[in-house]
Parts: sequence; structure tokens; C-alpha cells
Amino acid sequence: MKILVINCGSSSIKYQLFEMPEEKVIAKGLFEKIGEEISFLHHKSIKGDLEFKKDISDHEEGMTFIIKILADKEKGVISSIKEIAGVGHRVVHGGEEFTKSVLITEEVIKKTEEYIDLAPLHNPANLMGIKASKKILPRAVQVAAFDTAFHHTIPREVYLYAIPYQLYEKYGIRRYGFHGTSHRYVARRLVSILNKNKEDLNIITCHLGNGCSITAVKKGKSVDTSMGFTPLEGLVMGTRSGDIDPAITFYLIDKGYSTKELNDLLNKKSGLLGVSEISNDMRNLLQAKDRGDKKAKLAIDVFCYHLKKYIGSYMAVLGKTDAIIFTAGIGENVPYVRRKSLEEMEDLGIEIDEKKNKEARGIEARISRESSKVKVWVIPTNEEIRIAFDTYEIAEGRCARNNEHEIASGASQ
Ligand code: ADP
Repeated sequence: MKILVINCGSSSIKYQLFEMPEEKVIAKGLFEKIGEEISFLHHKSIKGDLEFKKDISDHEEGMTFIIKILADKEKGVISSIKEIAGVGHRVVHGGEEFTKSVLITEEVIKKTEEYIDLAPLHNPANLMGIKASKKILPRAVQVAAFDTAFHHTIPREVYLYAIPYQLYEKYGIRRYGFHGTSHRYVARRLVSILNKNKEDLNIITCHLGNGCSITAVKKGKSVDTSMGFTPLEGLVMGTRSGDIDPAITFYLIDKGYSTKELNDLLNKKSGLLGVSEISNDMRNLLQAKDRGDKKAKLAIDVFCYHLKKYIGSYMAVLGKTDAIIFTAGIGENVPYVRRKSLEEMEDLGIEIDEKKNKEARGIEARISRESSKVKVWVIPTNEEIRIAFDTYEIAEGRCARNNEHEIASGASQ
């Protein structure tokens, strides 16, 4: 069964076409700068790589072009668009409503629209993808996978902020958490690598990419996560501050900053970029640090310190921690960050094997010593495959129901 996974940004469409349940990637690509003068499509498939420069005005036009390439007689990978049985969409905010991936109905679209207020940068783009896909692939099962869904198990005392309760009731102000598909994928992956039941393991998952978040997973369920009402809270990120004293914002308002300027400051000019004054990109900072740049080193050290503090607090939350997982661009590729954020924690049962740590780049690997009570792993994330699985299960369930119906009505004979 062919399943297409779509991740729409405000001016981009990232996609992967899978053969399921074999988990085989048949084609993937990224359409960038949609709505600008020239849009770029980088497409890879078993038939080779393709690059296009096009004038694409919106997501519907972009999706139409992608489907055309996928079904192209010469360079395509499917003989007809009818082969695509399901489309899985990444949706950032599912509020309190969505606790798992769901079949997209008009009601789901309506609810997702209501959450635009909570995710103004993401949900509108996700919805554009859904609407385009429904139009272009009307026969395919459309499924939404929410970033927030995995965190629906977080208890009340954890998701509530200590501000007047009525703000939760009136505006839904609470911790939602994000990157759920990634935390869920790596936690499940480790359960399967270790051949255990998910109920047997307590795991801390560290997703360290441009956005960073950490989750405490107890017996397979998220019980706390660092991102909150928005993806600004928690760890230090590429350009986001993570946790700060909220009074800094009032202080800066008194100094003349507008709400928009503060939003930009904390979301786009802080984090690694803000402290280093060089870059938000860890690769550039590591190079600058190696050249002796003190601010680059400081930015990385601030990043690692906050991470270490969260890891320690989640060990307290979990009581017993069986494993820590590092994932995403930085988590998968930067031994320095992994070592620094876990150093001097031997008394807490964490012993890093420095050789293994240095060697583990972009691959699944255990980086703790044999004797380490807490096992430390690097596991590359794969949100797309998780979404593909959820979509496949829903699509297959629907096919099975249709078959039952056909058999019952004698239509299959
Ligand atoms: P996104 O959140 O946009 O998906 P990624 O997971 O790709 O981000 O992570 C981006 C971060 O990972 C950047 O800071 C980048 O420098 C860092 N990164 C990616 N690959 C490497 C690498 N090989 N070595 C060091 N840092 C890397």
C-alpha cells in the first residue's frame, strides 16, 4: 500500500512516499519558497534525483506538481495517482481534543481551524496541505498526526501553570508539548531494539534540532515535556530562548519594546544565535569554538547546562530512569553536547563511553558503558515513518471495513 506523508510549512511542502507496511521510501522531496517568485523542488526517488525551478503560487499548485512528478510516465514511481491509498499530514496543534492520529473529517478540519489561535504559524500551513490533498487525491484516506497528541497523558498538576485557573478555562492556557511524534518514535524504537514491553521502561527522550524539547516517558506514556503552551518554553534552541524569567518581558516593555519585537527577540533572535552572536547553527558554532571563539563556546555551554538541568529534573520525575535517548540534528551528531550535558552524573547512574559517543553520528548506537545503570542511546528520529504507520493502520482498517461490507452485501462476488 502506498502512503504519502506530508509536512507543510507556510512556504514549503516536505513529502515522502512509502510502500507500507515494508517501510520502504519510494520517493521524497522538498518544495521550498512556495508563493515566492521562484519555487524550488528537490525530488529524490528510486528513479534518480530531480531539481525543478517553478512559479508555484500556493500549496494546492505545489501538491499538484508533486503528484504529477510521482505519477510521471518516465520519471515517476507510481502508475496512477489511484495507487496512493492514504495521505498522512503532520499537524502541529491538536489542543486537548486529539489524543492520537485520526481520519480527517470536516469536524477534524473545523477543530484544527479553531486551534489556529494557539499555533498561528503552523496550523494554517498544515490545513492548506490537508485541503489541497483532499482535492487532488479525493479517493485517498486522509489522516492527521498531531505533534501534541503524544503528550495528552501528561497529568493535570504537570500541565497546569500556577496562574489563575480561569485562564485555563477561558483561553486553554496550559502545557501542551510538541515534537510528540518524534519523542514517541524514538521511545518506541528503543523498546523494540531492547525487545521489551513499553511498560517495562522509563525513558528520557531529548529531541535536539533547530527546535529542542525533552520528554519524560514513563511506561510508554509522556508524563512531562519541556515545551509548553507554545514551542518557546523549555530548552535553549537555535533561535528560541527556552525558559526565562517572564518578568524580563515586562522590563523590556518598560524599555520601549513592542509585543512584536519581543516575540521576534525570544523566538528568532535568542537561543544559540542570541548568546553566540554568530549563528543558530550548531555546526557553525562548533567550528567557531574550535577556532577559539569564546562566545560560541559559551552559547554551547549554556545550551548543555539547561539540557543537563532538565535531564536531572526528569530523572526525579521518573523515579527510576532506564534510558536516555538523543535524537534530531544535534542529538544525533554532536558528541560534545551529549558528553557535556551528562558529565559528572556517575553517581546518578550515568556513565558515558567516550569512544562510543565520539563514533555515534547519525546512527543508532548505545553510547553508555556496559556498567552504566542508565543506558544512553542515540536514535535517529523518523517522524515520517511514524505518521506513515498511523495512516496505514487507519487506511487498512477502512479497507477491511469496506471489504466486510462488500462481502455482507454480496458485492464482492
Ligand atoms: P529541524 O528542527 O529543522 O528538523 P534538525 O533536526 O535538522 O532541525 O537539526 C538542526 C540542527 O542540527 C542545527 O543546529 C545543525 O547545525 C545541527 N546538525 C545537523 N547535522 C549536524 C552535524 N552533522 N554536526 C553537527 N550539527 C549538526
